[in-house]
Amino acid sequence: MNKEINLKVKQKYVKDYKANFPLISKESILNGKDLIDEGTIIKLVDERNNFIGKGYYGKQNKGLGWILSFKENEKISPQFFEDKIKQAINDRHQFYHNPDTTAFRVFNGEGDGIGGLTIDYFDGFYLITWYSEGIFQFKDWVIQAIENTAKFKGIYQKKRFDTKGQYIEEDDFVMGERGQFPIIVKENGVNFAIYLNDGAMVGVFLDQREIRKLIRDKYAYEKSVLNTFSYTGAFSVFAAVGGASKTTSVDLANRSLDKTKEQFLVNGIDPTTQSIIVEDVFHYFKYAVKKNLLFDMVILDPPSFARSKKHTFSAEKDYKNLLKEAITITENNGVIVASTNCSTFGMSKFKGFIDTAFKELGGQYKLMEEFSLPTDFKTTKQFKEGNYLKVVFIRKVK
Ligand code: SAH
Repeated sequence: MNKEINLKVKQKYVKDYKANFPLISKESILNGKDLIDEGTIIKLVDERNNFIGKGYYGKQNKGLGWILSFKENEKISPQFFEDKIKQAINDRHQFYHNPDTTAFRVFNGEGDGIGGLTIDYFDGFYLITWYSEGIFQFKDWVIQAIENTAKFKGIYQKKRFDTKGQYIEEDDFVMGERGQFPIIVKENGVNFAIYLNDGAMVGVFLDQREIRKLIRDKYAYEKSVLNTFSYTGAFSVFAAVGGASKTTSVDLANRSLDKTKEQFLVNGIDPTTQSIIVEDVFHYFKYAVKKNLLFDMVILDPPSFARSKKHTFSAEKDYKNLLKEAITITENNGVIVASTNCSTFGMSKFKGFIDTAFKELGGQYKLMEEFSLPTDFKTTKQFKEGNYLKVVFIRKVK
């Protein structure tokens, strides 16, 4: 970590970096891309060696690393990391003091000043996610910063830097006390069973907090709800708590059955009163059409990219058709919640998919409300791709 290497930026990219674009992209760099050790502190310079910014080298699918400072005299040091983490924790002050919600994001990568690193809070436990080997080289600084700033029960970590950003399977415990999993966290008064030591995903995606609340408080009452790509059924649980007449959760992963039952149980809901189906969503749509099933509410939250035995789904290519399937089995005046975490397109393109889907079916709709990331998932204007979440509530009018 003591070495400092200069990376030269191609002239046509200098302008972007001068506007504080934080990601070091492969195509923008002239020299030495493959010979640099992960975690090396690098200085970006233009072709005449004028300073642009400094950061660290860490290959992830998004690029070669992140710029941490645009000030030439700022030192990338343990103190630098501690200042960023302290600031992030201060910014979440209100979250720490809300007994109804005990799980939230504490540090959101480049939005909080250090790309490639996120930290989540689960009722006293911190979960650090490292998105490159490069950022992992700063492990001691990050952990020291958390120790100096916050009280905690224990710290866990996820390494997401195998080829293509895959999670590396291992015991994720770092320090402190080990959790007795599942630990039960709260989100707006609803319980979630969380496992910090059981694979890449912990049981809930915290970025959908506002959507779950809205479904419970405003949309679910006495409605039949179909939750597709349901994972642990978090949307279904909120719908059920909100008085849905029935929820149906569909996910193709075998684990989703027990995980969804568990989420109902920890909220005192008998899972046998709900429907939990392990199946390919696209297969389920065909079944629903054949059986003339119609739902008052259909929730769509697919991964950006997924491959099942029969299907390859890519949000960018296939979301429109997914919507058409959903529209077909939604009651008139019913609501579709369309969500995507795909960072390769923005809200206006997403709304375009919605419009085309309805047009192609000769249907009409009304956009009810739309959402992006909640405030704890802090983003920066300089990196639009970081603001990946798009959720739209759509009423099918005809
Ligand atoms: N909506 C969920 C998160 C979805 S994660 C929530 O809010 O918690 C994506 C899920 O899609 C995974 O659980 C994965 O198993 C599932 N999945 C991917 N392709 C699928 C398909 N073709 N049919 C059904 N489920 C699928």
